[in-house]
Amino acid sequence: MTFQTRISGYADPALHAEGLYIGGKWQKGSGIAVTDPSTGNRLTEVADASVEDAIRAVAAAETAAAGWRDTPARQRSEILRRWFQLMTQHAEDLATLIALENGKALSDARGEVTYAAEFFRWYAEEATRIPGEYRHTPSGSHHILVDHEPIGIAVLITPWNFPAAMATRKIGPALAAGCTVILKPASETPLTAYAMARLGEEAGVPAGVVNVLTTSRPAEVTNAMLADPRVRKLSFTGSTGVGRTLLAEAAKSVVSCSMELGGNAPFVVFDDADLEAAIDGAMVAKMRNAGEACTAANRFYVQSGIHDAFVACLTARMAALKIGPGYEPSTQCGPMITQNAVRKIDRLVSDAVAGGARATTGGKPLSENGYFYPPTVLENVPVDAAIAREEIFGPVAPIYKFDSEEEVIRLANDTEYGLAAYIYSGDLKRAMKVGKRLEAGMLGINRGLMSDPAAPFGGVKQSGLGREGGVTGILEFMEAKYYAVDY
Ligand code: NAP
Repeated sequence: MTFQTRISGYADPALHAEGLYIGGKWQKGSGIAVTDPSTGNRLTEVADASVEDAIRAVAAAETAAAGWRDTPARQRSEILRRWFQLMTQHAEDLATLIALENGKALSDARGEVTYAAEFFRWYAEEATRIPGEYRHTPSGSHHILVDHEPIGIAVLITPWNFPAAMATRKIGPALAAGCTVILKPASETPLTAYAMARLGEEAGVPAGVVNVLTTSRPAEVTNAMLADPRVRKLSFTGSTGVGRTLLAEAAKSVVSCSMELGGNAPFVVFDDADLEAAIDGAMVAKMRNAGEACTAANRFYVQSGIHDAFVACLTARMAALKIGPGYEPSTQCGPMITQNAVRKIDRLVSDAVAGGARATTGGKPLSENGYFYPPTVLENVPVDAAIAREEIFGPVAPIYKFDSEEEVIRLANDTEYGLAAYIYSGDLKRAMKVGKRLEAGMLGINRGLMSDPAAPFGGVKQSGLGREGGVTGILEFMEAKYYAVDY
């Protein structure tokens, strides 16, 4: 089925937009091809913003800033709530769009839309609970009042792997805090972002409060926005490499940065774990989005006593997955985002095999038509292989055998990343004790999925700075103002 046919099959064809969205106006354009990763065929084109367009977006956000900041929190909350309801109402359309441009299985896309919409509901609630403080000075002679104010115009940059959720995880708290924003989605998945902007319009988001632009020159366009003194916040989700570059760029004008970067999650299975639960958890932690998730289990450390049974069960489950285009309802593992992603996975697997690893299922790219890599399990992987250091971002589960707690803690922490970690054990005390020593911002204890809008999401080490979601997420978009009051 062609893209146009699918689009016209939407309940609301008005969801299809090709950008740019600046100051409440749509500016049609072309220049960025959107590809169906299941076939490699072009779906459509979207507008390609210039530096001038980006500065116009900053000006639009500035024009809208005072009105939005002064809009009562209850009203901001109700707009976010309506946006949540509209996303829920259009969930199937949004999921289809995500499956088309990103390639993920429809079941994953539906899960993403629910997760994404929840950020609007959560921040609709948080908008009305912005905290303040009132204290006495230790001397007892004065009072300390602390207020939180919106930080100002925020530039939001998002990746392709969760085109809806990474946007709402930033827009939700920014709008709740009273900030206006410019969203720059990934070039591979712009349609979801534009569709959500359409819903935002319908929800009553005033012109200029949310601006969306796609560009083929992300560095040039972002650097220009960061150099504009009206921009006070950068919230970025993407690779650690690009995050480092952006931190350096933001330093030039001392722009506040929140960074959600790459991961290399260890998944530790102790002998006393419930095998069935550990396999279920492994399938979720590894195969959500076909492995294209920052929290994806990247290294499986399995204790000697349970190792062989774990390898056999995981191999059987991975080999049984149905591969196909994400938008086919029976698909369980969709394509990778690009051919380059397939090449990277192939390089990592080939290198591990050359070092002594063995593929118990999968192990080779599937075809040149569509960007498919099969679910793969590798055993006997050398602990120093490239696949243990780099993000795989694909459906490959490398398994390493370990004996002692000390050994697995050392191996798990031997990475520059520190986003997520998973532990499976029948002994909760042991799991918590080991978890305390793992260098990660988030721990799944006997759980393979940790993402929750009500929880603080983020990493330590080179996985990022700051937290999104939860009760503190809104503070990433606020500045504390201290009033020293004498009365
Ligand atoms: P990426 O290459 O870093 O790109 C992310 C975004 O940054 C895209 O919008 C991209 O635009 C833009 N970009 C690239 N270079 C830029 C530059 N010099 N200046 C400004 N913007 C620039 O990452 P990705 O491949 O899309 O996403 C995968 C990565 O994201 C993985 O490392 C994954 O772990 C990480 N991730 C982290 C989290 C988290 O919460 N910690 C969540 C999801 C993903 P273009 O698309 O136009 O290049």
